[in-house]
Amino acid sequence: MTVPSSVVPHPPGRRLSAGLLAWLLAGSVTAAPVAAPQMGPESQAHPVLWPAAHSPAAITDPATERRITVLMSHMTLEEKVGQTIQADIASITPDDLRTYPIGALLAGGNSAPGGDNRAPPAAWTKLIGQYRAAAATRGQHHPPIPLLFGIDAVHGHNKIVGATLFPHNIGLGAARDPALIRQIGAATAEEVAVTGADWTFGPTLAVPRDVRWGRSYEGFGEDPEIVASYAGPMTLGLQGPLRPGRPLAPGRILGSAKHFLADGGTENGVDQGDAKLPEADLIRLHAQGYPPAIDAGVLSVMASFSSWNGTKHTGNPSLLTDVLKGRMGFMGFVVGDWNAHGQIPGCTVTDCPQAMNAGLDMYMAPDSWKGLYAATLAEARSGAIPAARLDDAVRRILRVKIKAGLFDGRRDLVGRFDRLGSADHRAIARRAVAESLVLLKNNGGVLPIRSGAHVLVTGDGADDIGRQSGGWTLNWQGQGNRNGDFPHGQSIYAGIAEALAAGGGSAELSADGAWTRRPDVAILVFGETPYAEFQGDIPSPAFHPGDVRDLERIRRLKAAGVPVVSVFLSGRPLWVNREINASDAFVAAWLPGTEGGGVADVLIGDARGAPRRDFRGRLSFSWPRAADRMPGHRDEARYEPQFPYGYGLTYRDPTDVPPLSEDAGQAAAPPNLERYFVAGHAPDPWRLSLSGPVSLKAIDAGAQENGRTASWAGGAPGELAVTGTAVDLSRQATGDMVVSFRYRLDGPATAPVTLGVTCGVACAGTLDVSRRLAAPADGVWRTWKFKLSCFRSAGADMSRITAPFVLRTAGTLTVSFTEIRLVANDGDAGCP
Ligand code: BGC
Ligand code: BGC
Repeated sequence: MTVPSSVVPHPPGRRLSAGLLAWLLAGSVTAAPVAAPQMGPESQAHPVLWPAAHSPAAITDPATERRITVLMSHMTLEEKVGQTIQADIASITPDDLRTYPIGALLAGGNSAPGGDNRAPPAAWTKLIGQYRAAAATRGQHHPPIPLLFGIDAVHGHNKIVGATLFPHNIGLGAARDPALIRQIGAATAEEVAVTGADWTFGPTLAVPRDVRWGRSYEGFGEDPEIVASYAGPMTLGLQGPLRPGRPLAPGRILGSAKHFLADGGTENGVDQGDAKLPEADLIRLHAQGYPPAIDAGVLSVMASFSSWNGTKHTGNPSLLTDVLKGRMGFMGFVVGDWNAHGQIPGCTVTDCPQAMNAGLDMYMAPDSWKGLYAATLAEARSGAIPAARLDDAVRRILRVKIKAGLFDGRRDLVGRFDRLGSADHRAIARRAVAESLVLLKNNGGVLPIRSGAHVLVTGDGADDIGRQSGGWTLNWQGQGNRNGDFPHGQSIYAGIAEALAAGGGSAELSADGAWTRRPDVAILVFGETPYAEFQGDIPSPAFHPGDVRDLERIRRLKAAGVPVVSVFLSGRPLWVNREINASDAFVAAWLPGTEGGGVADVLIGDARGAPRRDFRGRLSFSWPRAADRMPGHRDEARYEPQFPYGYGLTYRDPTDVPPLSEDAGQAAAPPNLERYFVAGHAPDPWRLSLSGPVSLKAIDAGAQENGRTASWAGGAPGELAVTGTAVDLSRQATGDMVVSFRYRLDGPATAPVTLGVTCGVACAGTLDVSRRLAAPADGVWRTWKFKLSCFRSAGADMSRITAPFVLRTAGTLTVSFTEIRLVANDGDAGCP
């Protein structure tokens, strides 16, 4: 394994935990056991390079540690291993918990009761209750060990219909308001507690350094100062302050600082990529949020999918053990990310002692838990995972479970559904929306708009709560949501209409910008459509390259003599100089969430046109000057923003913004990793290719030549393949993407058929699909979806795929198709 230069790992087994344990058992809870990490020779020069921190003494006490010792002395090895594994509700049943001693569950981005992302809150409570009840039947020689249930409540309790959704972190960063952050944490915790879950995977302490990263919006800012100032308040809001000898207070939940470390520092902003940085930059830019979160008592930390100088964090003992648990004195537990352990060299998703030996305490093994449990148990038996390491992991998890109050069976707020989307929570969110808006331009003082005005509200984001909420909303990608899915929510248009109606004015909503009555001013709401994780990675900071529809809308309104206010919804600053130039005013609204009314609070003034509320937001990210370069914040020599970090106009200091350069530079074209055959053709870099006795003809299947019929003549192996340049699909495979194949069987297979991928020499990965394609031909179009990871399980190296779809048989077969692509798993796809 590559070991980062100046922090040298010590062998597993000789861990801080033993000393910590001794200290704890000796009964001292006041002095902080700052164990100096084992530093290599290079770092001796700067022994205090890594910031020190310590979990508060109140995280535990001698009586609690003795209780854990007694409990552990009665636990079987199976039970200990089970505590270290977390499964996803889409892949485990309550009954499984009677057989397997799994200690934690999560509901991943697309996982929900019955696979229904719109399930009512009561269905969540019921399901979580069923899992808990099953877990409570376990434990013959000791009291049952309660389950820990985690969920991504990353902008409010965002998977739950009716919850309050706050602005995504990028908008909160613009607000520069730590006290507000604490209130948001507390409101989120309460809503999570209502549904019966105990743990959120947040706060995200990423410091995104390149907005091409699809998770930029999950970070509070590109500068560590904002992240560091919010880490403590968010933790305290979620968990409350840790109280000596007592569990978390009612309505508080566990937090998880993530993703440790430098998830926002990967090269070119590639999700799950590699941060190539000297150690000093790793510390200075990316580590700053962790000490305040740990000092505030954060009870878990999630290891990052990504790497530092080529070493995956999930398998890096120097950082997980020496830095996080040593220097930073973290006494909670470290959880992995979604099957991230499988990306460590030498590991698979079902077998990875390396991660635990490096310091991981709980594997996130959504669909791989069963195999991983068996392998980890065998390794615990053989000593490949030292007993001391396993015991330390289990002790940490139990310590947190006790602190969470799980053993007390206390569920004070469960079922209090009136607290979901309650008026007080929505008021906090609405204020957050108003505070997060950043005014980039307000020429001629077009804002605020007089409340008696007649306003045209247009743009495809104007009346769309799903759109304004972004990714991680009801489902993973946040796509396909409708206003009706947000029973308490308000669209930006609805908020504007309400403010104008109250002031004697009026609003007209128009999808295409046409009006029935001439407006005094137009508000155009447009921007990015929702995405999450790597699906949001883009090749350049250009906004929808090649798409000028919004620009043309602005220009048409201007040509008609109507002043235009643009409200830009986005998960990051993007190059929109032409749209800014064309507009009179331009507001960066980020991803505000369900309380669209907060936009009107600032944009619509009083009857005389005086502000009711001023702008407060200041950029937490530098705005790019061109589409071919990143501004380079904190690199003063090349810092070249359009609007600098910290920029934001207010009504108090009117300034006109002069025309900006409209030269985009050379923006790169996006690589196409997910669409292989759509709308009648194979988009670049893909081609349909044939070998052996196979022929292809174009067909009309609803649209002209939008499909193909492939016919195998038999007698020798024939192949239909989608081929192209080598691409890395490992993130797509880990991220639970499915292959979606829309086909019609016209002539059944007469010999075995395989479906596979090509990934270079000696690369396996084929699946037997004979059953499906040997069925009687019934002329029905079907969409067949199966997990991309099935190829990985079959042995493919997903990081170098040259043909993502290879259908092969030596028999005869006729199959028509209209679509071959990857889509997010909507819940129930498995393997062929
Ligand atoms: C993400 C995490 C998230 C986890 C559980 C991962 O893919 O990287 O941020 O908490 O899934 O949904
Ligand atoms: C899950 C997310 C997870 C992602 C991993 C998705 O299918 O729903 O929770 O974060 O895969 O990339």
